[in-house]
Amino acid sequence: MAVSELARTIIESPTLRLNEEARLLRERGEPVIHLGIGEPKNKTPIAAILASAAKLSQGDVKYCPTDGTPSLKKAIIRYTEEHYDKVVAPENIIVSAGAKQCIFNLLYCLLNPQDEVVILAPYWVSYPEMVKMCYGVPVVVTPEDGTFHPRMADIERVVGSNTKAIIINSPNNPSGIVYREEFIAQIIDFCERKKIYVIMDDIYHKLVFDGKRAPSAYQFATRDLEDSRVIVINGIAKLYGMTGFRIGWSVAPRPLVTVMTNVQAQTTSCGSPVMQAGAEGALIGLQSIVEGLRLQIQNNRDVAMRELSSFNGVKTYKPDGTFYCLPDFRAYSGNSVELSRFLLKKALVVTVPGREFGMEGHLRLSFAGTVKDVTEGIARIKWALDPTSPNDIYIGDKKLIRDWL
Ligand code: PMP
Repeated sequence: MAVSELARTIIESPTLRLNEEARLLRERGEPVIHLGIGEPKNKTPIAAILASAAKLSQGDVKYCPTDGTPSLKKAIIRYTEEHYDKVVAPENIIVSAGAKQCIFNLLYCLLNPQDEVVILAPYWVSYPEMVKMCYGVPVVVTPEDGTFHPRMADIERVVGSNTKAIIINSPNNPSGIVYREEFIAQIIDFCERKKIYVIMDDIYHKLVFDGKRAPSAYQFATRDLEDSRVIVINGIAKLYGMTGFRIGWSVAPRPLVTVMTNVQAQTTSCGSPVMQAGAEGALIGLQSIVEGLRLQIQNNRDVAMRELSSFNGVKTYKPDGTFYCLPDFRAYSGNSVELSRFLLKKALVVTVPGREFGMEGHLRLSFAGTVKDVTEGIARIKWALDPTSPNDIYIGDKKLIRDWL
């Protein structure tokens, strides 16, 4: 097939592939536990359902402004003021089909061929692929001290005349870590001085536990938004559990929003006004939904930590936010892709290999599901790997005997 050389290098999304594998296994009646999935189990907030249903029932679903409906933008302006203490104009906002499209559009508008984008490992799987799709070069920085917290010195070492941007995702997918305030302050100061764009992927910014807060870039930016290189990406997928609505937004200087709008106009015309009405409903509706979700996920995190701590050899730490953790399974295998496949085959548990996030030897486990799934999923992993655990287990209604350790 004569597909382009560039397209050929773009890898499949491992998380979406695993979702599909799990779905097919479930369809065949297999009792799969999905610890790979990055979405909460809650029902769509009622305010979002009513708002999108109201729009739909008008029977007038047409093109809308490329950069988002004025009323959703108004809700985003309020959101930005409330959560970031930042006053922005409608012209600073562009709504896209999820945070994913926001990041892609932004990279497309920023990068010239061979421009470098610094990505901090462990990183979200899509960043390096998106950079490549825009003819840029991903430059991955991996903390040398074995933690998941990047150090400024490691970043400074890779920054050169080709560096155009750095992507910061805190709370972080896949580690669950929240970057320290001094680090965010240093990054903003460094990038302001070096004229490097800082792409803050804040998609999990309110899913933070134990009374902590994720430091925001705006706290430290000294330049006015119009003169700034800080771009903040947000969305409703994670905080409201509205992954299927596909709404995200970028807050950026006006000239950049104009360019991003032109690109979006030529590629998607506009986002669906029905889904935008739903997003607006969520943003202006009852916010206790977000807090309820956060508390439930914090409880799931505690359950996951308790279950993992009983596991000989697995090194783990407590995530500060998101619904992921990234335990170190190197005591069992150095090959996370093989380990993940083994766990799916033997224990019917979906995990995501750390290799996909730039952290080989680790597995990303999601605790976004039910407490029962988290407990049972980790128990199955323990059964499959830990010789000190009992060698029989019930998976569904079948009793299985471990005969490989
Ligand atoms: N950024 C990160 C770090 C994510 O984990 C995700 C979703 N997995 C996204 C962006 C994309 O979010 P959306 O569903 O709004 O496109």
